[in-house]
Amino acid sequence: MCPRAPITESDTDTNTTAASPHRAGFVTLVGRPNVGKSTLLNGLVGTKLAAVSAKPQTTRHRIVGILTRPEAQIVLVDTPGIHAGSTPLNSRMVATARQSLGDADVAVLVVDGASGLAGGDREVAAEVGRRARVVAVNKTDSASQGALLTTCAEVARLLPDAEIVPVSALTGDNVERLIQLVAAGLPESPSLYPAEQVSEQSERFLASEIIREKIIEQTRDELPYTTAVVIDDFKEEPARNLLVIQATVFVERATQKGIMIGERGSRIRDIGRAARIELEAIFGCRVFLELHVKVVREWSKDPRVLRELGL
Ligand code: GDP
Ligand code: MG
Repeated sequence: MCPRAPITESDTDTNTTAASPHRAGFVTLVGRPNVGKSTLLNGLVGTKLAAVSAKPQTTRHRIVGILTRPEAQIVLVDTPGIHAGSTPLNSRMVATARQSLGDADVAVLVVDGASGLAGGDREVAAEVGRRARVVAVNKTDSASQGALLTTCAEVARLLPDAEIVPVSALTGDNVERLIQLVAAGLPESPSLYPAEQVSEQSERFLASEIIREKIIEQTRDELPYTTAVVIDDFKEEPARNLLVIQATVFVERATQKGIMIGERGSRIRDIGRAARIELEAIFGCRVFLELHVKVVREWSKDPRVLRELGL
């Protein structure tokens, strides 16, 4: 993983010197699906906040992570890839991306250095325009030197004023340089959030994202993107150092429910176990996790259900 920034750094005051004023602001990572935005965000804030997977479009929510340094505070917003979509779910994802772009002081365009630029990158670049002052050419660990050079050259033609930084979100290579360039682009400002705040997201949301990630990992190509996770109950029992979480997994058809549950419940057990292990590591206590699977026909097309899910 990345060399982590000390996010609980105690020195958060806004001392300024003539040479380097304190800076703070909102930064959004934009890019087509699968370029590594969530991985980069997780590396930057040092806690798993956004669902990361090998499949595109797993980020549905606007997520804020906060990187606090003595000299700057970077408030990160993760966005779903900007892309044309037809279903209400897709159009909401695009709307969320636009909205968070609107709030951002700096947009970091993330592109895949291994696969090079695709049509989607140009669309996103057009959308972010001059705010994309920094372009992260990601996956330097797996890209060939030739592919990296080609991608950087293409980016330079597309956004002549942008700073181009080759990085590996996976290994953390050059991520520090990216942080410095992003910080330099922020307005002069005192910190916007207390240093110890890792994310604006509630712990419940974090739990649902981790469960969703495990579902995606374990159902792979068998299920389309029609699952959602709602946390029904989230109870701390400090006396027993225990966190009790009950969640419902929504699917659209009975056949999907069967896939999710698996033979004699084996798959849902595996999903639950993987999620529990990660939740225990994050929350630092024992977790009792109970998952229910529920069929709601066409939930991803139903504005009422989407609203309930906060989408
Ligand atoms: P997003 O859709 O842009 O949020 O992309 P994700 O962060 O979900 O990453 C998509 C896939 O690319 C996942 O399989 C990641 O593990 C992988 N990935 C992300 N960053 C890197 C990187 O720097 N190097 C390599 N080799 N893979 C990466
Ligand atoms: Mg993502």
